[in-house]
Amino acid sequence: MTVINRILVANRGEIARRIFATCRKMGIATVAVFSDADADSPHVTEADEAVRIGPAESAKSYLDISSIIRAATLTKSDAIHPGYGFLSENAAFAEACTAAGITFIGPRADSIRAMGLKREAKKTVAARGVPLVPGFDGGDQSPATLKAKALEIGLPVIFKPSAGGGGKGMKIVRVASELDDAISSGRGEAERAFGDGTLIIEKYLERSRHLEVQVLGDHHGHLVHLFERECSIQRRHQKIIEETPSMALTPETREKLCQAALEAARAVNYTNAGTVEFIMDQSGAFYFSEMNTRLQVEHRVTEMVTGVDLVEQQIRIARGETLQLTQAQISQRGHSIQCRLYAEDPANQFFPSVGSLVDWQAPVTVGVLIDSAVESGSAVSVHYDPMIAKVISHGETRSEAVQKLTRALQRLSAQGVTTNREFLIALLQHEEFTKGNLHTQFIDQHMASTLNATAGVDAVWFSALAATLAGVRVRVSSRSELPGMISGFRNNRSADQFAEFTHGAQSVRVEYRSHDDSRFSININGAPSEVKILEWNAPVLTVQTADGLRSSARVTLRESDVWVHSRLGSVALKEKARFPEVTKSAVAGGLMSPMPGKVVKVLVVEGQKVTRGQALLVLEAMKMEQKSVAPVDGIVKKISVREGDQVTAGQIMLVME
Ligand code: ADP
Repeated sequence: MTVINRILVANRGEIARRIFATCRKMGIATVAVFSDADADSPHVTEADEAVRIGPAESAKSYLDISSIIRAATLTKSDAIHPGYGFLSENAAFAEACTAAGITFIGPRADSIRAMGLKREAKKTVAARGVPLVPGFDGGDQSPATLKAKALEIGLPVIFKPSAGGGGKGMKIVRVASELDDAISSGRGEAERAFGDGTLIIEKYLERSRHLEVQVLGDHHGHLVHLFERECSIQRRHQKIIEETPSMALTPETREKLCQAALEAARAVNYTNAGTVEFIMDQSGAFYFSEMNTRLQVEHRVTEMVTGVDLVEQQIRIARGETLQLTQAQISQRGHSIQCRLYAEDPANQFFPSVGSLVDWQAPVTVGVLIDSAVESGSAVSVHYDPMIAKVISHGETRSEAVQKLTRALQRLSAQGVTTNREFLIALLQHEEFTKGNLHTQFIDQHMASTLNATAGVDAVWFSALAATLAGVRVRVSSRSELPGMISGFRNNRSADQFAEFTHGAQSVRVEYRSHDDSRFSININGAPSEVKILEWNAPVLTVQTADGLRSSARVTLRESDVWVHSRLGSVALKEKARFPEVTKSAVAGGLMSPMPGKVVKVLVVEGQKVTRGQALLVLEAMKMEQKSVAPVDGIVKKISVREGDQVTAGQIMLVME
């Protein structure tokens, strides 16, 4: 039996914290590693020991095998858990651990390798009779062959990087004229993202569902499944909502699917935790897609319905224990759903948003689990995945789980950066979601009108009121002379004061007159009311209106930015300058970089006429490529960047007229 007394987690954020929790439960000491960007992160402070492994860039820290092995040796760690992402599916890393006498908590290196490339993985499982989507995995990668094969398979098809993951670089082609472009841009993206330009082609299954099966195998020939997860709600081909059991399965198809997963795992003598992914078409036929040889982001929903701690099982298996769970003992109880809360902007192609999370508060409720990477003041950096937290619920029924999850998201405050919180709430409340009519194009098909949704008038008005009153209290307490003097006190008391805010296109003017520290006459956009501050204990403000309604809000003020979270929603406001400011002259028609990144393509030339929505540049940031499009019809007057240039946030890349 292998002794494991101290585990180093070669990861960061919520998954590091989640693994530490199981270690603590099992009496195992914990070691964190961190980059300079994470020196004060919760995962670091929470571990028994922590080791700095390098600068912010993942390539020089979380992906640096020798730094991590050094950290494990330094702390005398017996074992390394890789979490997900980073080095979790890197066979060379698993081998480096073994070579250093450290137990790698995961499958054997050869299983990782066998499943690492989609092309080889498909051949391996097909040999065991597991069904594959019709497609082309062949060796000839010439554009002419790829094109001919795509037409032979029949459009629509999807091109995928063979070495891919995370939904990156995939191209769907519905008309033949788009084939050439998809092949060349798909290859380019695959090379840049994975260092391997090999593309595979599959028949694209419209309105398909993503289903996957969790498996666990020990080193003594035992292999079990822990049923399915459905992850059909995706954006950028990446999951954002996951649940189990799936509404799409009958007991018979569930059994078939789980057996197919076991067959795929057996094909590589799989050990430890893994997930076999499938695509299911509208007729209910399913096809192998890939196997992930690691723990998944969505493992919590399986834990909630089966009651099995998957990380504990991973550690036990790595110790060489025999699986104590028999297939017959594993059952699904109730329903569990997970949402991924991201710092990203649904209105801007779900592109990551970076900045400081000025306020974070997660509700604690029975049946709801929140795995988070952050606390108030945490930075969401360009260097890592922008997932802030996972919110997971469990209920006796699906509708109970949905209701709990929705409520938890509504109560949760994540302010300072744009998040997908409101979008997730809208999604969970969508009629088709309620019915369980899920498929991977759900967001494109049903959510278009929600993408640009801004907060409702009530929420904006209430937030402006809360922002005004919190602002008054902040100014009163920060005035050194005459503390307690009524805000806005003048010899002439007749003049009302006011504050003006904007939220997108909406603007709100709050006029107020204070009677004492707490009581105010308010007039918002012409509507009068009487309001009393019951408490200001930053960031919580509690007020009561004349009709007796008491409400609380979390209010964070940073210069002219205000974020308010209340029962009506989260609203970011901008306060108009109280005194006219010298206007900062922005270049009119200038296209700014939304964040630090690299220009990978310039698609237009100076003097070119472009139409609204036309792609002008391709920017790569946070490991993703994003097209910058023309905001209006016009002419490209000046291009200030070249392909390969690094740009900073707010840098003008191009000017239009
Ligand atoms: P990755 O390894 O990058 O995550 P996958 O092969 O797992 O890529 O595919 C990710 C998602 O892309 C799937 O969940 C599904 O939504 C979509 N997808 C992949 N292949 C197909 C296909 N042949 N037809 C329809 N959708 C597909």
